[in-house]
Amino acid sequence: MTKNEINNNEISKSHPRYESLKYRHKIIEGMKNLVVTEAGLIAHGRGECFDYILGEKTNQPAENAIRAAVASMIMAKHPVISVNGNIAALVPQELAILSDMLKAPLEINLFYPKEGRIKAIVEVLEKAGAINILGKNEEKMVEIEDLKSNRRRIDPDGMLKSDVIMVPLEDGDRTEVLKKIGKKVIAVDLNPISRTAIWADITIVDNIIRTLPLMIKMTEELKKFNEDQLNKIINEFDNKKNIQDMLDLIKRYVEDQKKDAFKIINQ
Ligand code: ATP
Ligand code: MG
Repeated sequence: MTKNEINNNEISKSHPRYESLKYRHKIIEGMKNLVVTEAGLIAHGRGECFDYILGEKTNQPAENAIRAAVASMIMAKHPVISVNGNIAALVPQELAILSDMLKAPLEINLFYPKEGRIKAIVEVLEKAGAINILGKNEEKMVEIEDLKSNRRRIDPDGMLKSDVIMVPLEDGDRTEVLKKIGKKVIAVDLNPISRTAIWADITIVDNIIRTLPLMIKMTEELKKFNEDQLNKIINEFDNKKNIQDMLDLIKRYVEDQKKDAFKIINQ
């Protein structure tokens, strides 16, 4: 891959890491447009690292968590989807579609505020078709106590009154505080042992680029279910067990790689 290929967004589809490079490029573009911060690049890299040892696919425990998450969002009175720079850069269309299907506003919530950043994210979301966007009116925001980071500022019409909040790529401190103020938290985090993953009620250990399309598909399916059926899915889900299953899966994947990874040099 040459420098030009990256610059021109013309990564060859035959490149063995095409998918990964495509999304890396979206993150870089996002940084140029103020949507993503420098720290966002590092967070993406940490995610990629975990994705590698998950086989870069949605595994069964993640699918189970997605099912429980969708059922919870459908059953919620005020579901909200928290949006940061990385996910706005990676999956804006999918965010807009899911927000509309679940009647869940997209609330912008940033760790690193910067002049013009919220506006840039609003633009990306609106261009992707999002209608219900919160967290953009600074004067309206209220603060959650016990949280020092900038993510403490939440929208009274969104997270404050919400009962279920989906937090992709969240920070552990805020997940803990959101739990303590009584919110049901759905995390999407490739690291199964981050503080966010451990604190959340439902932890989807998967890449957000795969999770959102699957959530859209599952929302279509589960919207036809009645309340009893949805409650059954929610009640049968055990987050601790699910994360432990995910860790077993990683162990097995690494064990298999110990044998199989070298095969490519003998072909
Ligand atoms: P915590 O504060 O919860 O302990 P952390 O400080 O290790 O986590 P952060 O930098 O706060 O992590 O947040 C980034 C998290 O998002 C990382 O755990 C990373 O694995 C995850 N992540 C990055 N990119 C993606 C992605 N595309 N999909 C899902 N998760 C991702
Ligand atoms: Mg953190």
